[in-house]
Amino acid sequence: MASIFSKIISGEIPCYKIAENDIFLAFLDINPNAKGHTLVIPKKEENKIFDLSEEAYNDLMSFSYRVAKALEKSIPCKRIGMSVIGLEVPHVHVHLIPIQTMADMQFVQKEVMSEEEFQALAKTIARNFT
Ligand code: AMP
Repeated sequence: MASIFSKIISGEIPCYKIAENDIFLAFLDINPNAKGHTLVIPKKEENKIFDLSEEAYNDLMSFSYRVAKALEKSIPCKRIGMSVIGLEVPHVHVHLIPIQTMADMQFVQKEVMSEEEFQALAKTIARNFT
């Protein structure tokens, strides 16, 4: 069965898109630890990150690097935290999280954002993606 992220890629489910190319897609996490919490995924569905080829893994990191730069330009924060978990959605994704404190990396406290806020933030970050 297609993962929820494959449904986002096919357009079956909407997302707040940040950036994409033929191989990767970056979009805002719907239940963010902090404003700007972004997921970077390969379009080809794979469950675990270390099942990717070394080349695909490195390409994913390069794309994530560019997204992290856009986040740094867009959101006041101490730094961008990076995490890979995948227990909830078995489709490789890198979490990029603009953090102020260690708690922002703990996936416990969540930020509540309106639809308009998500849309405006995604636009701002997308503009800063190069
Ligand atoms: P994990 O698999 O544990 O790394 O977590 C999956 C992440 O995907 C969580 O942070 C969810 O909030 C996020 N998520 C699940 N469904 C969606 C969706 N439709 N759009 C954006 N983010 C999602």
